[in-house]
Amino acid sequence: MTEHGPASARTTMKRGTNRAVYSPDEIRGVLQAGMIAHVGVTTEDGPIVLPMAYGVRGDNILIHGSIANAMLRGGRGIDVCITVTIVDGLVVARSPLHNSMNYRSVVIRGLASPVTDPADQADALKVINDHIAPIWDTARPPSKIDYKQTLVLSVPLTEASAKIRGGDPIDDAEDIAGPHWAGVVPLTSTWGEPIDAADLNDGIVPSPAVVGLAGTDAHG
Ligand SMILES: Cc1cc2nc3c(=O)[nH]c(=O)nc-3n(C[C@H](O)[C@H](O)[C@H](O)COP(=O)(O)OP(=O)(O)OC[C@H]3O[C@@H](n4cnc5c(N)ncnc54)[C@H](O)[C@@H]3O)c2cc1C
Repeated sequence: MTEHGPASARTTMKRGTNRAVYSPDEIRGVLQAGMIAHVGVTTEDGPIVLPMAYGVRGDNILIHGSIANAMLRGGRGIDVCITVTIVDGLVVARSPLHNSMNYRSVVIRGLASPVTDPADQADALKVINDHIAPIWDTARPPSKIDYKQTLVLSVPLTEASAKIRGGDPIDDAEDIAGPHWAGVVPLTSTWGEPIDAADLNDGIVPSPAVVGLAGTDAHG
């Protein structure tokens, strides 16, 4: 990503270029608001795309999972594609093939490097964990075994693009003159009140960061 345009030919949008965004700040804004990354790799069995949590640290996006995760193990040192999508609304046109969605999406392409240094791995895992809510510091710290069983991959944000759609459907003039409804149905995601685990011991309350989620925009 660069301030003025795409970083490479393969991150250059050819269709819907009016919705293309390459500004690092705007790309980071979408990543900050997003929650799930779809991580795609090519494997011997064929391509696979899996949903994962993520975090952004410096100029990199970080993903993690069990060392048993075949996709993560296979993704070390190879070219991956990571997509983050937020749907902001349904765009209802007068004719179904003109329907759309309002959205913010980011596509990142690049080499995934394993984060192996123990202190670096711990910091990366905190970043991923705290991306949604900063609850790392108030929970039981991870054990040596937890760390050993967790694989972290880092992908540079260099080859990143965003696509952002907002506003009304785009209908043909003859449809606008017709009898069919058109407009936008907004979609919002709001965190609910925390629910105690069934096996929670008496007298234990959620941390302020967990309590503070209730009623807030999950993509805010
Ligand atoms: C929620 C949602 C639903 C969508 N539904 C459809 C659908 O049903 N049908 C459909 O055809 N398209 C849909 N799109 C748009 C789709 O993601 C592609 O942008 C579009 O299809 C163009 O694809 P292309 O391969 O021709 O893009 P190109 O312009 O050739 O892509 C070139 C490069 O631009 C970048 N790029 C492309 N798309 C995106 C993106 N969405 N976000 C960030 N960077 C991008 C990538 O780096 C890509 O390699 C949807 C997008 C979103 C977010």
